Amino acid sequence: MSRFLTFILLSMIILPVSAARLAIVIDDFGYRQEIEKKVVRLSPKITVAVLPNSPYAKQIATYAHLYGNQVMIHLPMAPIRLTGLEKDTLFPDMSEAEIARIIDEAIVKVPYAVGINNHMGSRMTSSLSGMKKVMARVSNYALFFLDSRTIAATRVKEAAEIYHVDTLSRDIFLDDSINEDDIAAQFDIAIQLARKKGYAIAIGHPHQQTFNVLYQKLRYLPADIQLVTPRELLPSTQPNHTVGQVWKLLVDDANVLINQWNLQLDSRRISSHFYY
Ligand SMILES: [Zn+2]
Repeated sequence: MSRFLTFILLSMIILPVSAARLAIVIDDFGYRQEIEKKVVRLSPKITVAVLPNSPYAKQIATYAHLYGNQVMIHLPMAPIRLTGLEKDTLFPDMSEAEIARIIDEAIVKVPYAVGINNHMGSRMTSSLSGMKKVMARVSNYALFFLDSRTIAATRVKEAAEIYHVDTLSRDIFLDDSINEDDIAAQFDIAIQLARKKGYAIAIGHPHQQTFNVLYQKLRYLPADIQLVTPRELLPSTQPNHTVGQVWKLLVDDANVLINQWNLQLDSRRISSHFYY
């Protein structure tokens, strides 16, 4: 038997048992198209989280979807220090109706989303009453909630359980420091954690330095590490959008899709698309 065949057979036997799963989410998408497209093209297993009121929200979500990447809504939530807030940032004392409107609009602005994670949000996610209003609305959709964990005293899981919304929780921030050595070290910690507990969720941002590190690290990803989407880490597989939602999105976005398809063909000519 050739070495190659032996390797394939051994991989089939060994990998499913020993693979540790790593999910990477890059958020704050919607402002810097060029670097964001490069991040998307790194791997379809990189999940991107799009700010609903950013200038290129719909375009970059559609682009990512066409490349096979999963899309999330990066929902702005009130931090402790109220600076640099996005439009429609959620506050704990907002009415249920106001929070519902903001979530409904975010779903329209970020097509193809399969989940939500919070942008900032220490003030909001540490408020049980605030998060209950969020989860009450999110539970109307087939969306999971990834807690970015910007604060230790988060009440996300507690609120989500009341409304049966599936949750996940961020383990590592890749680029609190945007020094490439620091990002690489954070990536390695994520891998160690994935080996230890079976999986890890890392969140990063569309910085050139983060892209550079991911480009290298994903090329030489250890054989026992399997890159997955956060959704694959959920115990139950949820449906994506309902048929009605998909149809509406298709009609609304027909022109965007055609434009993006042309763009995609262009970029396929000039760049390689790595699969891991
Ligand atoms: Zn953010």
